[in-house]
Amino acid sequence: MQSGRIEPQAQHRSPLARLETMGLDPGVYTGHAMGCLFCKIVDKQIPSTAVYEDELAYAFADINPKAPVHILIVPREHFDSLSEAGKDEQELLGHLLWAAAEIAREKNLANGYRIVVNTGADGGQTVDHLHLHLLGGRALTWPPG
Ligand code: 5GP
Ligand code: ZN
Repeated sequence: MQSGRIEPQAQHRSPLARLETMGLDPGVYTGHAMGCLFCKIVDKQIPSTAVYEDELAYAFADINPKAPVHILIVPREHFDSLSEAGKDEQELLGHLLWAAAEIAREKNLANGYRIVVNTGADGGQTVDHLHLHLLGGRALTWPPG
């Protein structure tokens, strides 16, 4: 086995749990400490138009909507992106998808909608806090650019 290789189990733990395993204080590395925009929005330090919230998730209107309905659904806990979410986050990821579908129902998007999770540079992610886009209210083209 190569030295320095991360064990598969460790890869599946949350980013903060991994920091603890490494003997580092997770509090120092949270999204807040990194000045994360969406952490500030979740904590209402930066205003947003709330659409839905519960103990795990917060959803708000996108500031630069690309469709008549454009809502961002984010976990309260900071993860840089979908690539950071491990096996421990399966339930949370499912919850975020459920919340998106619930909002779509509430917004009467019976004709259809799209969920997008831009991930990393090639995925076009511009804010490094995991988020789902819910887009609807018009016919969306495919494929995206
Ligand atoms: P990404 O490009 O990372 O997939 O999506 C980031 C989204 O966040 C973009 O659609 C952008 O319009 C939105 N956004 C950026 N800054 C703000 C903000 O301050 N408030 C709100 N509500 N949305 C923002
Ligand atoms: Zn964050």
